[in-house]
Amino acid sequence: MHVPFLDLKAAYEELREPINAATLRVLESGWYITGKELESFEAEFGAYVQAGHAMGVGNGLDALILSLRAFEIGPGDEVILPSNTFIATWLAVSYVGATPVPVEPIDGFWNIDPNRIERAITARTRAIIPVHLYGQPCELASVIEIARRHQLRVIEDAAQAQGAAYRGRRIGAHSDAVCWSFYPGKNLGALGDGGAVTTDDASVAERIRLLRNYGSRVKYQHEVQGQNSRLDELQAAILREKLKHLDAWNERRRAVASTYLDGLKGIPSLKVPSVHKDASPVWHLFVVSHPQRDRMQAFLQERGISTLVHYPVPPHRSGAYAGMKLSDQQFPITASSSDELLSLPIGPHLSQAQVTHVIEAVKAYCNA
Ligand SMILES: *Cc1c(COP(=O)(O)O)cnc(C)c1O
Repeated sequence: MHVPFLDLKAAYEELREPINAATLRVLESGWYITGKELESFEAEFGAYVQAGHAMGVGNGLDALILSLRAFEIGPGDEVILPSNTFIATWLAVSYVGATPVPVEPIDGFWNIDPNRIERAITARTRAIIPVHLYGQPCELASVIEIARRHQLRVIEDAAQAQGAAYRGRRIGAHSDAVCWSFYPGKNLGALGDGGAVTTDDASVAERIRLLRNYGSRVKYQHEVQGQNSRLDELQAAILREKLKHLDAWNERRRAVASTYLDGLKGIPSLKVPSVHKDASPVWHLFVVSHPQRDRMQAFLQERGISTLVHYPVPPHRSGAYAGMKLSDQQFPITASSSDELLSLPIGPHLSQAQVTHVIEAVKAYCNA
C-alpha cells in the first residue's frame, strides 16, 4: 500500500468544480490584482479567525516581514523566536536588519518555552515571535504576559495553525499581529504562494495595507517605502472556496491524529505528541520521536509510507546563520529533536486503511 505524505492532487479533485469555477470567474473578470476577490477573502478570513482586520499578502515570509516593518523593528533591535522553527521566522527578522534571538522549546511539546523567554530579554529586545508549530497553539497567555511586562510586541507565526484555537478562541488576533502562509501544503493552502496578516488593531492594519502596496493608498502617491506583496485575485478566489471546507478538513485531520494517538500509545521507544490543555490543535503535522529515527524512516519507506523530518537542519546549523556561530550545545533540545523527530503522513485525504497501515508499520518497527 502506498501512503503519500500529503496528497495535494486529492485536495484539488475534491473541490474541482468550485475551484475551476472560481478560476474562470477571475480569468474572465479582466481584473487580477487587488480587486473584489481579495476584498471578499479578507472579510471572510478575518471573520473565520475572529480578527477585526485581515490583509492578504504575497506569502508567509512577507507577512512576517511586513509585520516587523509595521512596528518599525530594524537594525539594532533583537527579536526573540523559537530555535526549532522553519527558517522563514528567522529570515524575516534578519531581512529587516534586526537580530534573531533563538529560544528553546519545551521538550516533547515543541513550542517556545515561556520560562526561557524571560532570560533572553535584553535592553534591545523589541518583539517576540512565537510559532504555533505543527498546528498546536503555543502558551500564548504566558508569552503575551511577559511581552506586556517588558513592553514588547508579539507577532504570531501562525503559518501552520489555520483553524487552531487557544482557550476557546481561534488563533487570529490574540496578540498584536498574526502571520499566515497559504503555501499549498498548509491546512489552508492556495494553488501557488499566498499569505496574510490579521489583527484587531486598526492602525497596524492600515500600516500593513500601505507597506504591502508600494507604500501607496492613492495610485502613484507613495507615502512610505513600501514593497510589492499582494495576494492575487486568482489565489484569493481559490482560497475563498477552500476556506469553506477548512473546518471539515481539519476535523478529518483530528480524526487521523486521534487514531494515531490511540494506536501508537504505550510503545516504550516511541514518543507521541502531547496536547496542551489550553490548545485545540489542527494537526498540520503529526510528529513522533524515536532514537533510531533514520532507520524507522527507511523501514516505513520500504512499506510504501512516505514521511518527512521537520526540520532536519535547524536554523542555527544552517549555512544562512553560520555567521552567528551558534552551537548545538546552546540548543540541546533543538539539536536532538532534529535527529529524532519524524512526521507521519497526515491530511484530510488519508483513508482509514492507510492510517491503519502506518500504525501497523510503526509498531512492527518499534517491536522488532
Ligand atoms: C510555511 C511557513 C512559513 C513561510 O510561509 P511561506 O508562505 O512559504 O513564505 C513561515 N513560518 C512557518 C512556521 C511556516 O511553516
